[in-house]
Amino acid sequence: MEQECIFCKIARHEIPSQIVYEDEDVVAFKDLNPVAPVHILIIPKKHISGVMAVTDENSDILGKIFLAAKTLASDTGIDKTGFRVVANHGKEAGQSVFHLHFHLLGGRALSWPPG
Ligand code: 5GP
Ligand code: ZN
Repeated sequence: MEQECIFCKIARHEIPSQIVYEDEDVVAFKDLNPVAPVHILIIPKKHISGVMAVTDENSDILGKIFLAAKTLASDTGIDKTGFRVVANHGKEAGQSVFHLHFHLLGGRALSWPPG
């Protein structure tokens, strides 16, 4: 599973991506098909399949991911204009990659509620 997972491969630098942030536990890279001027994916380096796989044991990573989101929002300037941090889970939310990831979206007006 983790051998095949595309985001594990990105985290291990086995396939190319535009990495914009990296530390011991977290990697962030530009989405391949951006839907906003700033569209960055923030992931744990360790494989977690999605929001429902977060546990007492691995939940520390969520704070680290949000600290990375804050850094990236400042770096890109979207902290000034507004941004969204989103995790899709399951079919009706359109989850397509089964490695926990948060979309950091900004740089244009974002509609609410989502379609
Ligand atoms: P989801 O729909 O699961 O919330 O989001 C998955 C996101 O990953 C999509 O926005 C898609 O464009 C992006 N994505 C899928 N494969 C790759 C890839 O190989 N590289 C990059 N940079 N983004 C990817
Ligand atoms: Zn993975």
